[in-house]
Amino acid sequence: MKWQGRRGSSNVEDRRGRGGGGGGKLIGGGISGIVIIVIVTLLSGGNIGDIMGNLTSTGSGTNSSVPYEQSAQEKELSEFVSVVLADTEDVWSDIFKEQGMTYQDPTLVLYSGSVNSACGTASSAVGPFYCPGDAKLYIDLSFYDELQQQFKAPGDFAMAYVIAHEVGHHVQTLLGASEQLNSERQRLSETEFNKVQVRFELQADYYAGVWAHHVQGQNLLEEGDLEEALTAASAVGDDTIQKRAQGYVVPDSFTHGTSEQRKRWFYKGFNSGTIAGGDTFKAAEL
Ligand SMILES: [Zn+2]
Repeated sequence: MKWQGRRGSSNVEDRRGRGGGGGGKLIGGGISGIVIIVIVTLLSGGNIGDIMGNLTSTGSGTNSSVPYEQSAQEKELSEFVSVVLADTEDVWSDIFKEQGMTYQDPTLVLYSGSVNSACGTASSAVGPFYCPGDAKLYIDLSFYDELQQQFKAPGDFAMAYVIAHEVGHHVQTLLGASEQLNSERQRLSETEFNKVQVRFELQADYYAGVWAHHVQGQNLLEEGDLEEALTAASAVGDDTIQKRAQGYVVPDSFTHGTSEQRKRWFYKGFNSGTIAGGDTFKAAEL
């Protein structure tokens, strides 16, 4: 993606080197018998048990006032994600305006190791996530290396896809889909809820594609970018992750969709460029 010298977002909160944990506001605890349910939307559903465990555990972080010293690669990467975020602000503001709505910018939190969010304390092991409770995206930039090495999805636009997917969850929150999903969680069995969650995640992939459509419309895509995004979308598919982790797949446990579905819905959004074609909840076939 052509990004150098372009506007970066002012909505980036740099918490690197500070560590999370130690805070008292954690999720999952029952207060007088009331169960608090918080939807945390992660990029992939690799091992949701661990993830929820991480998000509800109390870490023992340190709060240091020493500024985070970033490497040259981290500096470049943080500038890149800032430009990508700014791009999503521009694109989604326009799309919302066309619909007579106002887009509210999310905040992107850069962290290292672990972080406190309105959804609880998370370690970077959970991967990038969006928390509707505070309308913030959380990302440890080391995920870029993980994308390359573990997920075999290299390239700057692979990372752009990841951010655009999480911004997609923010769009879903603004449009009311997150709230709808939350209400389904209480009504459905786990297996049935997983199916709804797959539709929810595929919609975030679709929205990531919608954003990429507009990046292309401004002639900002470089050769290979689209492929990088599709490779990344495929790499975080439930079937691919499960096959790698345990050697077999359990479709009932899918929460994000197969590699093929994730690629296809991203591509659908990329072709259309509008939110209209993205109703994955009503789609007969996913
Ligand atoms: Zn997601």
